[in-house]
Amino acid sequence: RQSLKIGMLPADGIGREVLPAARAAIIALGSSIPKPEFIDLAAGFELFTKTGTALPDETVSILQNECDCALFGAVSSPSRKVVGYSSPIVALRKKMDLYANIRPVASVAATAGGKPDVDLVVIRENTECLYIKQETLQQGEFGKEARATRLITERASRRIGDMAFKTALSRPRKHVTIIHKSNVLSVTDGLFRETVRAVPALPEVNGRYDQITIAEQLVDSAVYRLFREPHIFDVMVAPNLYGDILSDAAAALVGSLGLVPSINAGDSFVMGEPVHGSAPDIAGQDIANPLAAMRSAALMLRHLGYGEGADRIEKAVDEVIREGNVLTPDLGGKSKTSEVVNEVVKRI
Ligand code: NAD
Ligand code: MN
Repeated sequence: RQSLKIGMLPADGIGREVLPAARAAIIALGSSIPKPEFIDLAAGFELFTKTGTALPDETVSILQNECDCALFGAVSSPSRKVVGYSSPIVALRKKMDLYANIRPVASVAATAGGKPDVDLVVIRENTECLYIKQETLQQGEFGKEARATRLITERASRRIGDMAFKTALSRPRKHVTIIHKSNVLSVTDGLFRETVRAVPALPEVNGRYDQITIAEQLVDSAVYRLFREPHIFDVMVAPNLYGDILSDAAAALVGSLGLVPSINAGDSFVMGEPVHGSAPDIAGQDIANPLAAMRSAALMLRHLGYGEGADRIEKAVDEVIREGNVLTPDLGGKSKTSEVVNEVVKRI
């Protein structure tokens, strides 16, 4: 590669405040990675209110045809139904077939009440489950009746399972916990559980995952154990909705959602994205924690094969957290977003 073309989608709220931080971290790497070219792309709820579309076709086609990778900020999806609106991030994951959402949660220091011994990664299926958004509303005998369809396929469960085992292979503990609720949802979660469990025995896997230990846990008790004894978890693999909830819960264990990065990965594209949302309660105040976005840039680079660059960003972020002098208010600090960014960039 001569250059690295990075699609930048800040979208809404603090997404716009933290994506420049990711950009600054990448630029700070200098010539140790191919020359980055940032391509600013439109998406988001605010865009929808102005133009009637939250994800322009042009954005998707530039991502597909011109970009090597992308970074997404956060979107403000309203809780009420807005006619014609649908979340651009959910749509992008599906359109680009970014089937795995990989969310590492690890404590660096016991910041803001965080626990010291958390080192896990949530592997969230990213294309189906209740996120296919097939909902209906009808008048029933006793008032309104709402229904949702939940899709679990063998193909999606197999490839997310494979991603989980592959991830576990690269980690010291090599342990995968399958999260499900098949005591109640024996058909859908049953299929997820059985398909993931069967991955190591597939002929094409050829014994590669033989050293990995497998456990499983019902999602409700998994949350309980996550809070009581987080150290028991290494790789957690889950259907879309459980994975979403588990990763926010795990973020609380390390002190803040503003610390937890992710990548949306497919077979041929990767998009980094902090786990948090657009945080309207703190938007516009220059106090959003930029570290999740900076770590997301690192994860994206590592996925593309630039592990050394990723290490440099991650080491700089970890140092700033460990020193504890320049932190945003979510971690008990008094610093502005921009001050934290400068502190990290200096160390990169
Ligand atoms: P949120 O993640 O935006 O915020 C939850 C809490 O964490 C808030 O108190 C917020 O201030 C805090 N927080 C989050 N990120 C932070 C950061 N970087 N630094 C400091 N504090 C941070 O979740 P929410 O409030 O439930 O949702 C707000 C909006 O974001 C909604 O419209 C929702 O649809 C959207 N959302 C988008 C995404 C996404 O783009 N992938 C994910 C989750 C929520
Ligand atoms: Mn979420």
